[in-house]
Amino acid sequence: MNVPEMFGENVFNDAVQREMLPKEVYKALRATIEAGKRLDVSIAGAVAAAMKDWAVSKGATHYTHWFQPLTGLTAEKHDSFIELDGDKVIMQLTGKSLIVGEPDASSFPSGGSRATYMARGYTAWDPTSPAFVKDGTLYIPTIFVSFTGETLDKKAPLLRSMAAIDRQAKRVLKLFGIDCRKVTTTVGPEQEYFLITEEDYAKRKDLRLTGRTLFGAPVSRGQELEDHYFGKIKPAVTEYMRDLDETLWSYGISSKTKHNEVAPAQHEMAPVFSTTNVAVDDNMLSMELMRTVAKKHGLVCLLHEKPFRGINGSGKHNNWSISTDTGMNLFSPGPEPENNTFFKLMLAAVVKAVDDYQGILRASVATAGNDHRLGADEAPPAIISIYLGDQLGALVDSIVKGGSYVPPEATEGSIGVPESPIFPKDASDRNRTSPFAFTGNKFEFRMLGSQSNISDANICLNTIIADSFEQFADELEKATDVKAAAEKIVKRELTDHYRIIFNMDGYGPGWEAEAEKRGLLNNKNTADAVPVLYEQKNIDVYVRQGVYTQAEAIARADVFLENYTKLINIEALTMIEMAKRDIIPAVSDFIANLCQNVASKKSVCEDIPCESETSVIKSLSALNDAATAAVAQLEKDVAAVDKSDVKASSQAMAHVILPDMEALRASVDEMEKLTSSDFWPYPTYFDLLYDVM
Ligand code: ADP
Ligand code: MG
Repeated sequence: MNVPEMFGENVFNDAVQREMLPKEVYKALRATIEAGKRLDVSIAGAVAAAMKDWAVSKGATHYTHWFQPLTGLTAEKHDSFIELDGDKVIMQLTGKSLIVGEPDASSFPSGGSRATYMARGYTAWDPTSPAFVKDGTLYIPTIFVSFTGETLDKKAPLLRSMAAIDRQAKRVLKLFGIDCRKVTTTVGPEQEYFLITEEDYAKRKDLRLTGRTLFGAPVSRGQELEDHYFGKIKPAVTEYMRDLDETLWSYGISSKTKHNEVAPAQHEMAPVFSTTNVAVDDNMLSMELMRTVAKKHGLVCLLHEKPFRGINGSGKHNNWSISTDTGMNLFSPGPEPENNTFFKLMLAAVVKAVDDYQGILRASVATAGNDHRLGADEAPPAIISIYLGDQLGALVDSIVKGGSYVPPEATEGSIGVPESPIFPKDASDRNRTSPFAFTGNKFEFRMLGSQSNISDANICLNTIIADSFEQFADELEKATDVKAAAEKIVKRELTDHYRIIFNMDGYGPGWEAEAEKRGLLNNKNTADAVPVLYEQKNIDVYVRQGVYTQAEAIARADVFLENYTKLINIEALTMIEMAKRDIIPAVSDFIANLCQNVASKKSVCEDIPCESETSVIKSLSALNDAATAAVAQLEKDVAAVDKSDVKASSQAMAHVILPDMEALRASVDEMEKLTSSDFWPYPTYFDLLYDVM
């Protein structure tokens, strides 16, 4: 296979645009994409015609506006290119159809920002993300807004947040004499996932309906041997990964790294970073392709944050940075960060924003699925803090506490093997426990859930950092000596927000207590984390940066809570169904079977020992009764949840329904350990985790 040749073959990318568009049209389109110039609508017709010709040459018969409603998923509505010309059919895509579409918006969540009777929603072309052909259809990335202009999706606010960074960062850059046309945020998301067999998946109602196992006794070999991480990849998985890479590459997605993750059956794919907007679209498409490619291999790709209890869940590290169109990375410390006022100012902007808005940053990654990870062993804790590493940590300490800063000697690592090369050592070791870590010239926000649409976290990050920039720019524009004024800001902000910096082990036992002393938030679940989004200070930052209106901000919070409540409701109903119709009857059958065995043994000889059967009969009977009672309790409590109020219902889900589900699971998992595998109605953790070979 010739990778350079096939890379991006399904994408209407720069190379194709250059080849297929009239020169003037091409230039105007690139000016929009690269310099953020408003799209000249007069070119839409020409772009649409070229796009259609190219798509038809790739076998496409349809086109769709592809958008990202608040479900967190992608949505599409296909139209054919067919137009009737007398009794002849021609293939056509007009400029207007490229630019706007009007899907029925009434069935998408809107958090009340659009009454359902006003079902009009518009999709509008996003020229900054390239169109592509998939399954005979031309996909056109679009934003999704209501008739009255309120955003109904995740892309429009993301683009607004990127525009805010562009606006405010350029002001700061200008003060330092740095000129550029455009400032963009960049993201490289590391995607974790599990692979199981299709046969096993088909038999698990919980996986099919909720994406995670709601029952399941632990497997005797989990991840304790630490042999899966970076371990040898199984042949079936190797085949899958190869196919996935080729597929991703054909869509211009630069899949770069692949390896086994910590848990059995867990893996990771990381692309090379790109502009945030494109990174989001690519990640959404990647998740879809990961599933469809798995199907071809008789596998199912699980993207849920916690498919299995007792072993690691899956996250999505969001590597984030800011750079100019001239190639300058705003978070590059350079050889002497201590003398790099601009870099220190950038660092202070992040430290300030992350401390001031830790609540909304935490809320931006809060989902029912991710609640199972944050605060557990493998993921960062639910407390937001920043890790800077030894070198920057020492620099910040010297700024805040005074005292001298001794830059570390440029060290070279030697591994004591004469043949191996000397390698330059990183300035700081890695810290895997921090939710927000500085890693060289970018920040790695590690709290995102594996199935999340990464827009939410990036909208938040961009907005709060743009807000820091704005405050700094306001101040610096009034100063006569910019450098001195900037140094003053750095010292002030790092001092004021010093509490958010934590360079030690985030899993350590002392951290929660220490964080509490520092006054840091520790919201452990979605129901408790999301309500900060209703606080006026947190709404204001979005309004100030032009990302959300007051109404949009509130609507988003409503949707987060609504989604959470709905998901847990589905999980509860699924558990009830599985327990009542499959598990409790199966255990009862097994008990009956044992009783029959006892009876037939006794028919041979009255005082034959039957302890092995009777002890199990007794234990299982008690457990099955406990499970029955737990189901009844859960049913009752689910029925009592007041669904009319998003806050109250999400609180009930977190603090009543989830504990009920826990109680039911405890009895069932105990029963699984005692029930003959011939009778157990579902594939076990052993099957699920080890059947892919
Ligand atoms: P790790 O060791 O954590 O895997 P890497 O350096 O391999 O870290 O990078 C992980 C991700 O970070 C990759 O997707 C990479 O493309 C991305 N990345 C690197 N530089 C940047 C940047 N400037 N902005 C955003 N993402 C970046
Ligand atoms: Mg990483």
